[in-house]
Amino acid sequence: MAERDPIVEAIRRSDRIVEDFAALTACGGRLVGSESEKAASGLLEARLTSIPGAIVSTHEFAYRRWTNFAYDLARLSPEPSTGLRCHPLVGSDGTDGIEGEAVDLGRGTEEDFERAAGQVRGNFALVRHEYPFSRNTIHRRVKYRLALDRGATGFIVANPMPEAGLVTGGAGQDSELNIPAVGVDRATAREIAGSRIRLTVDNRRDDDTGRNLIAEIPGRSQEWVVLCAHYDGHDLADSALDNATGVVAALEILRCLAPLSGELPRGLRAILFTAEETGLLGSRLYADGLDDAERRAIAAVVNLDTLGGSADFTCLTSGFAALDEFVSAVSAECGLSLATWRPLMRNSDHFNFARHGIPALRLIAGFDDPDAGARYLLTEADTADRVSAEELRRGAVVAAELVWAALTASAGFPGGG
Ligand SMILES: [Zn+2]
Repeated sequence: MAERDPIVEAIRRSDRIVEDFAALTACGGRLVGSESEKAASGLLEARLTSIPGAIVSTHEFAYRRWTNFAYDLARLSPEPSTGLRCHPLVGSDGTDGIEGEAVDLGRGTEEDFERAAGQVRGNFALVRHEYPFSRNTIHRRVKYRLALDRGATGFIVANPMPEAGLVTGGAGQDSELNIPAVGVDRATAREIAGSRIRLTVDNRRDDDTGRNLIAEIPGRSQEWVVLCAHYDGHDLADSALDNATGVVAALEILRCLAPLSGELPRGLRAILFTAEETGLLGSRLYADGLDDAERRAIAAVVNLDTLGGSADFTCLTSGFAALDEFVSAVSAECGLSLATWRPLMRNSDHFNFARHGIPALRLIAGFDDPDAGARYLLTEADTADRVSAEELRRGAVVAAELVWAALTASAGFPGGG
């Protein structure tokens, strides 16, 4: 269609995307419930309401906010050492002080835990953080679960990259029983491995309200394409790659398509989710709250999560063969080299739509490439200065091509209707 080219061209040259990225990352890391996340929510809502033709609403939900107030990690023996660097993992338990050996389990596979059988109980399980987006990543929550099951009293995840400082992440959202858990940098891991340590963590939970932001551009039919990205993050750095890159792309695509309100075959519903980093909660409550007719009216979901750090893009197609076909067709038509990965992956908000049978994909840069910028996710190195204007625009252009194709595809493809 004739309108596509000017839209892609506008995104390719967009300065607004760069300004949005600077403003969003200036809010800070955006841990759900923090002042930083609330500032980001206000900023993004103002951006959405300033788009002529966009119908803006919010989806609010009650949840338990997690906040850390204080922490302290010390080595007791062989040589005492205090004030070691660490960062409490979101959702983990607090403690007035627990002592034990930091049992080094290497990567922290099931075999690693098996080998150390007998040592873990009553001690700290020390495992390694790993590149989160490869075909055989063992997720932190799996290692945390192994530690819980083996009777560990604490869980420590170490960042193996010396230049990337501390590491964080979620721990404990899926279990009632929790243990204290922290991330450490590589030097600290070396200092505590095999030593007796003491950890104190003051974490609290309070009632709060989360806000998913929604903006709609109606189409000619009742069908919708959902374009989503999570704006929450972690509090170690700027949550720049993960996921300011996705949010600013979604905003710019929405702006460019808004003048076509009522003209395209399908409507565009942009959703900026929060509480993604805490067990995909925001999108879970949103998708669970739709009725059957509303779910059927969603033809496809394009979830943008981590669009910088690599020029290689992959669509995680959540088990939908029709999405693989769709992506291959867009890739060929638009001269993109998009890869696909079929298995359903629970690593971002697309999962909660796919779970309900809605064709949902995640677009990601650097999948299965441990050298991609995405290796800095969840670390102190996920900072705004590592993402260039060119990368922001490149990711948004790829996303725009997918969204345009989904908005204009024939009825019933890739799904919905
Ligand atoms: Zn993310």
